[in-house]
Amino acid sequence: MTVDNVKPTVGFIGLGIMGRPMAENLIRAGYPLIVYNRTPQKMEAVVKLGAKSTNHPAQVCDDSDIVITMLPDTPDVDQVYFGDHGIMNRVRAGQILIDMSTVSPRIARKIAEEAQAKGAESLDAPVSGGDIGAKEGTLSIMVGGSVHAFERAYPLFQVMGKNIVHIGPSGAGQVTKTCNQIVVAITIEAIGEALVLAEKSGVDPAKVRSALLGGFASSRILEIHGQRVLDRRFEPGFKMRLHRKDLNIALDTAQDMEVSTPLTALVHDMMNSLLAQGKGELDHSYLVAEIAKRANLAME
Ligand code: NAD
Repeated sequence: MTVDNVKPTVGFIGLGIMGRPMAENLIRAGYPLIVYNRTPQKMEAVVKLGAKSTNHPAQVCDDSDIVITMLPDTPDVDQVYFGDHGIMNRVRAGQILIDMSTVSPRIARKIAEEAQAKGAESLDAPVSGGDIGAKEGTLSIMVGGSVHAFERAYPLFQVMGKNIVHIGPSGAGQVTKTCNQIVVAITIEAIGEALVLAEKSGVDPAKVRSALLGGFASSRILEIHGQRVLDRRFEPGFKMRLHRKDLNIALDTAQDMEVSTPLTALVHDMMNSLLAQGKGELDHSYLVAEIAKRANLAME
């Protein structure tokens, strides 16, 4: 990635809960950074650390060798890449565009096609590990795109993450992240059913959790979210609103591929109900409260 030890300039767009600490780690690792965020105040912290800021995505593209985006949802990525002042208006041959947001595999492939037509490369590289992983530089990064682009971007990924896996061609990273979000959502639902059933049966759910953790039903989700449920602690963490967005992507992808995903659809439906009740900003483990409510058990 380096030529004569000169690090490439990195453009970073989207400095939220995840993007800001990721950008800060790149600055600390010595990468020159140019940043853009729709809410300008969110750029102040990284500018203090030495980043340059600008007013639109096209300028980020003009002034950098590699562009990273970390945005909330598919329409945001669409706007930043394909909008009036979007990246695609300015992308040059040899540049790498890396989208690390969790979005539809479809848009990852669209970006790849456009980038390739202009002689550039792109990677979809969504992450798992939350804000703590972003701060500590220990994210899990699942990457779609060419091996050539992956190898060029690898030194940057090493600054932001630990478990960095090249999965396959463009879109494969986003498909992997969708698989991850399906497993997490349905596991929370299963743990919720088990713990609510225990409590309603007069059996101590804390002891049920301890017993299950030693056997085949053990999981990180039972360990961490199981404890959250026992403590009734639902501050985020990972917001229900964002997980519902990820299940939208999962259901869309399943429809495109003609795959039946009944349990994903069920949990998505339960999340819709919780969002309607104003619970979207709570941790996704609050899903268990919906199961408890149906059993006439208090969860607050
Ligand atoms: P966030 O809402 O905190 O940050 C998004 C940032 O993008 C904000 O600063 C916002 O101002 C900016 N933004 C939005 N639209 C923009 C636009 N058009 N142009 C420029 N900037 C724009 O979200 P986050 O928690 O940092 O999540 C980012 C992505 O990472 C999401 O896709 C999310 O699903 C994924 N993710 C989040 C977590 C987590 O724990 N928060 C974990 C893994 C993956």
